[in-house]
Amino acid sequence: MIYLDYQATTPIAPEVAAAMRPWVSDHFANPHSPSRWGREAAAAIEVARGDVTKALGLQGGRLAFTGSATEALNWALKGVAEQATPGRNRIITLATEHAAVLDTCEWLAGQGIDLTILPVGKDGIVDLDDLSRELDERTLLVAAMLVNNEIGVLQPVSEIAQMAHAAGALMLCDAVQAFGRIDIPQGPDLVAISAHKIHGPKGIGALWIRTGVDPAPLIHGGGQEQGLRSGTLSPALCVGFGAAAKLARERATRDYDHVGGLWRAAIQTLGKGWTINGSTSHRYCGNLNIRRAGLDGARLIADLRDVAFSMGSACASGSGRSSHVLKAIGLDHRAARSSIRLGFGRYTTVNELTDACRRIAAAAHAQEKLDA
Ligand code: PLP
Repeated sequence: MIYLDYQATTPIAPEVAAAMRPWVSDHFANPHSPSRWGREAAAAIEVARGDVTKALGLQGGRLAFTGSATEALNWALKGVAEQATPGRNRIITLATEHAAVLDTCEWLAGQGIDLTILPVGKDGIVDLDDLSRELDERTLLVAAMLVNNEIGVLQPVSEIAQMAHAAGALMLCDAVQAFGRIDIPQGPDLVAISAHKIHGPKGIGALWIRTGVDPAPLIHGGGQEQGLRSGTLSPALCVGFGAAAKLARERATRDYDHVGGLWRAAIQTLGKGWTINGSTSHRYCGNLNIRRAGLDGARLIADLRDVAFSMGSACASGSGRSSHVLKAIGLDHRAARSSIRLGFGRYTTVNELTDACRRIAAAAHAQEKLDA
């Protein structure tokens, strides 16, 4: 199997699995208990928190672990919305955000939040003039992701944060697909990340919160995580997240350069007839979303059982609906159904990627012949 679905999830790094192992066997103590074992587990969690925070590289805030990035995004949006006033109750977000943001915003709109969803251009990037027109003293928060999970394009997060601040609003950044892959710009007040996208375990994410920003808790109970997020933390998951973040930081340049080489090799091997969805310059190169006239993407995926790739986000696949991101960049249903996403990274070799691309190109040609 050639794994090309790095946006859905990433393979666990061997170093991460090794770091987690003692915490899923012998070291089972509750990290919130005062026993020596409990304190050892709590200390391991704090080391992990330090490693994740260091890898994020953001100044002046604290990091709270959550069960996923979805939870972190729900917490940020609902926790800030709870503090809305009649004069400041607008959330602005983008049409290409992840469902964890869009669906939460729609839910908040049902609770009385004034929601504005900005369009993006054909390149997938928001026009800052559109944002400027919508931003005013009624804006509570602007939510924008750094790297898009479906098409890999980058939003100008630093500029968006500056503009939000100038209007007295907060800025939330979904950095799930960026963290551990590219630098996170300074500026956002709230940043959501997830371990399983950086070769860490599933079931743990985090919300970074700028000092002075106080989203109301989403989950109530025992007051763990500095009273911000209740629930017993898993030392194994926290340690795994920390190890993955440390590794990503140590390997940052190597991984980034490797991904650039993979991108070039994939495009060269696929050959003519493919169009890249989204900006080719403002992007993370580990995400290659391409379309081909007349292609049936779902059939291609079914035909190539030994290559794992997708048509877009894992959450939306199987729903039969075409991608809201591809729609937002102007693709009709047909063009969206002719698109596939190849996601690669640290453990993808050039040989396996070019092998997969040759098979994809051959299967696409075979479809064309059959349909002619
Ligand atoms: N945001 C983006 C951009 C994602 O790609 C994902 C995962 O697919 C999420 C949020 C949700 O992350 P999690 O799986 O940790 O809930």
